[in-house]
Amino acid sequence: MSKKINIAIDGHSSCGKSTIAKAISKRYKMRYIDTGAMYRAICLFSLQKNLISKDKIDERLLEAYLPDIFVEFKYNSEKKISETYLNDKNVESLIRTLDVSKSVSLIAKIPVVRQKLVLLQQQIGKNKNIVMDGRDIGTKVFPDAELKFFVTAKPEIRANRRWKELRQSGENVSYEEVLSNLKMRDDNDINRRMNPLKMATDAIKIDNSNISVENQNDFIFSLIDKIFKT
Ligand code: C5P
Repeated sequence: MSKKINIAIDGHSSCGKSTIAKAISKRYKMRYIDTGAMYRAICLFSLQKNLISKDKIDERLLEAYLPDIFVEFKYNSEKKISETYLNDKNVESLIRTLDVSKSVSLIAKIPVVRQKLVLLQQQIGKNKNIVMDGRDIGTKVFPDAELKFFVTAKPEIRANRRWKELRQSGENVSYEEVLSNLKMRDDNDINRRMNPLKMATDAIKIDNSNISVENQNDFIFSLIDKIFKT
């Protein structure tokens, strides 16, 4: 495929953005970047260094550490997935726990953290052929992306999907806990001052509360095919 494009996928927490991004990545051989994993990795670092206590983060100390925090993705050819590394350590499963989910929006609202990660994301995407998911990709990271999606679904449906995933990975959490965490993260993402979650004016909205992954993907693929044909 000769034409190179970037695709931005934003939306609420746990609405299947990564499922869409992975399907696009596989079909069109584009590199998938999970920006939420980057914020989660910095959150994990902060938890490991005890910078977070009682919903408060020591921002000054985190800022001092920031130049020494390296987040990257490496492809695991056995599992055929890209995995997140924090300072050369594979943290792919550690960053997905509810503990990290509970504190990550504290990290995501810190301006110096966002500046660092947005810059890194823009560098990764400068040669295009990237499908990136997050909260501010279409509005801030790639405002000129060739295609933008804004994905959402009813909170109860999203929480149920996420709860099942967490249970499968062995976490003993209740549905209510997952639902309240998801609502809290949405609220923080929408209301933070820097790069809040909002739909880009040129994004295509997808509410997948009542559609199957197959139907959703067929719709998305048809739009991408159109871009490659023009
Ligand atoms: O996508 P995921 O739910 O893994 O992201 C974890 C958290 O990182 C979100 O709750 C959000 O607060 C933050 N985030 C962000 N901007 C992005 C991606 C994620 O603020 N581009």
